[in-house]
Amino acid sequence: MNHHRKPIIAANWKMFKTVPEARETAVQLKVLLDGGPALHSREVVVCPPFTALAAVKEALSGSGIQLGGQNLHWEDEGAFTGEISAGMLLDCGCRYVLLGHSERRQFFFETDEAVSRKLRAVLSTPLIPVLCVGESLAQREGGRMEAVIEAQLAGALAGVEASRLDRLVVAYEPVWAIGTGKTATPAIADQVHGMIREWLARRCSADMAAAVRILYGGSVKPANAGELMARENIDGALVGGASLDADSFARIVEFK
Ligand code: PEP
Repeated sequence: MNHHRKPIIAANWKMFKTVPEARETAVQLKVLLDGGPALHSREVVVCPPFTALAAVKEALSGSGIQLGGQNLHWEDEGAFTGEISAGMLLDCGCRYVLLGHSERRQFFFETDEAVSRKLRAVLSTPLIPVLCVGESLAQREGGRMEAVIEAQLAGALAGVEASRLDRLVVAYEPVWAIGTGKTATPAIADQVHGMIREWLARRCSADMAAAVRILYGGSVKPANAGELMARENIDGALVGGASLDADSFARIVEFK
């Protein structure tokens, strides 16, 4: 963490929680974090399933905790059964949206081209994109980590002018660390974050790269959040499993 960059701690609830469950967790989170120092020095974001956005929005109102979507479609509207647009997320009170999460890439065949279309759609709205990148175990072991991540970044940012990327947030999520209990060591994560920052400096500008928040995701827990966040290039966390429980997510938000 660098003190010029405000950390973002984001919860990805994936396909978990009914509306009453989501509401209850959001209320607990608000109570746990309310009035504490963390909400002044960190941005906290909750990304529930679409069905719970309205209830979570209401439960979090006045708390300063932000809402995010987990995915979106690049068109404004149309005959795209099952999809949801940037405008609809804004309508529900979202400020952030995840793009290209590895589960979207792996299970729903989302390509870099699709991620790029989504990014361009998001940048034409006030939503803040959280672009997820990360290599699989086979790619890492095959020595292709850097090439894979650079291709994901280049693919997503294709055709986007550097001047439009000042809002970009990147999440580095090594696929081998998601939901597996295996966390990248702080040193490994920091090294990859540094590489991403250097790539952005070349692609955009040194100023943009110095300001961009790069979150780490992959089995972040209350016990390891502090040591990860202590690293220079780690500017927050994207948390899956450990964000489902309000107490555990609040302890991550309050990392020391
Ligand atoms: C995620 O899916 O964004 C994630 C990081 O999951 P987990 O924390 O469960 O590894």
